[in-house]
Amino acid sequence: MSVQVTIREEACRGCQMCVDVCPTKVFTYDDAAAKARVSGVEDCIACLSCVYLCPSMAINEAGYTAVKNFYRDLDFSRRMERFL
Ligand code: SF4
Ligand code: SF4
Repeated sequence: MSVQVTIREEACRGCQMCVDVCPTKVFTYDDAAAKARVSGVEDCIACLSCVYLCPSMAINEAGYTAVKNFYRDLDFSRRMERFL
């Protein structure tokens, strides 16, 4: 199972912290709705920064492999190569 990232829309306060913190630009900001959107989940490296940072605890991640150092996970390493 590949990683899944979801935002509980009713909880999102539109602070954009997830947009700013994500190293691989998984999120975009919907100006009209004043909400963050998941637009590039295939680039998520499961660093979990967004999950910890979101002040509304609106972001949920599933389907990732918990490892001490993410670069040891071959799937996420392949994704990261594009950003190095
Ligand atoms: S960090 Fe949380 S509350 Fe802020 S825009 Fe992202 S999902 Fe919404
Ligand atoms: S876990 Fe990391 S890479 Fe994935 S969406 Fe959140 S901040 Fe971006």
